Amino acid sequence: MKLETKIVHISKPDELTGAISTPIYQTSSYVQEAPDVNKGFAYSRTANPTRKVVEEAIAELEGGLSGFAFASGLAATDCVLKLLNQGDEVIAVNDVYGGTYRILSTVYNRLGITSKFIDTTEIKNVKEAVSSKTRFIWLETPTNPTLKVSDIEEIAKVAKSVGALLIVDNTFLSPALQRPIELGADIVVHSGTKYLSGHGDVLSGFVVVNTPELTEELKYLQNTSGGVLSPFDSWLTLRGLQTLHLRLEKHSQNALKIAEYLVSHPKVDKVYYPGLKTHKNHDIAVKQQKAFGGMLSFSLKEDTLDAAFKVTTRTKLFVLAENLGDVRSLVSHPATMTHKSTPVEIKKETGIQDSLIRLSVGIENIDDLIQDLEQALA
Ligand SMILES: *Cc1c(COP(=O)(O)O)cnc(C)c1O
Repeated sequence: MKLETKIVHISKPDELTGAISTPIYQTSSYVQEAPDVNKGFAYSRTANPTRKVVEEAIAELEGGLSGFAFASGLAATDCVLKLLNQGDEVIAVNDVYGGTYRILSTVYNRLGITSKFIDTTEIKNVKEAVSSKTRFIWLETPTNPTLKVSDIEEIAKVAKSVGALLIVDNTFLSPALQRPIELGADIVVHSGTKYLSGHGDVLSGFVVVNTPELTEELKYLQNTSGGVLSPFDSWLTLRGLQTLHLRLEKHSQNALKIAEYLVSHPKVDKVYYPGLKTHKNHDIAVKQQKAFGGMLSFSLKEDTLDAAFKVTTRTKLFVLAENLGDVRSLVSHPATMTHKSTPVEIKKETGIQDSLIRLSVGIENIDDLIQDLEQALA
């Protein structure tokens, strides 16, 4: 069965009643027939029927063995990091999501876990950085906000060679456009707050693993830490998932047209979008992605905060918000918003200059979107 068909049928009818829309099992616990005799559910932190459906859905879409749903993307990330032991080392892409950078560098480092942030777009950098202490390679591709692309298949080989696990945060593309487990990744992480739910109305996070051993470990950590997704938010994410392929197709079409428009605009300096032939790793994006996604960034020839503020406050359809992956178009200013806590050196290294503007291109009519940018840039 093709992925599009799976996506539409991802919410299975309720086994008990036949309800075509998965019921919201808004319950904390379950009546038992005798001590420890139950119908597979005892307490909703451990398992909940609505959450179970969305967990099975994400596992199926990512082509993994099992899925775990959390109250946010960072709760999912945190649970994966709890697989680590003191003395372990994490190699992460240098423009990793700001919250992931923060938890690694201010929380896990205190617990004796060191992180190195490197440019993973060149495979030689990854080979040089790994050591016998490396337990995780943590990748995002494309990255936020400069859309750097790294080769998942090649990095998976490097991870295997040192006995490390490759973790891919697949938030920017979703399984509709990129399936890291098929490319050799061990764990996939998501902020379901973005494309998976898609409507800007829920916070959620997911982990997908592909072995019975990791399934047991994650199940243990999820239940032990407790940051699980609520039944209602599981249902909202499930509802969003059913149109995932349609949305991502339209997001990608619109973003490519906007990238091409911006390239030819006299006030625009650089445009970062993996769909452009001039993008550094365009060929890798073609190899591992089904399309190029809805995220892009650009900088202005007048590289000042003031110029960026003017554009980001003058757009009308592109609303200024610290989110992405919504059906409506969003604009943000990484240097003062999402990457505020990123150190200046890393900002410089990763191209987060003062005038950098990030767009999460929505599914509106393309002419309206271009007109909106035209008047804001004018
Ligand atoms: C938003 C985001 C996260 C964190 O997810 P939350 O749901 O906000 O906790 C992690 N990774 C990426 C790439 C993100 O965009």
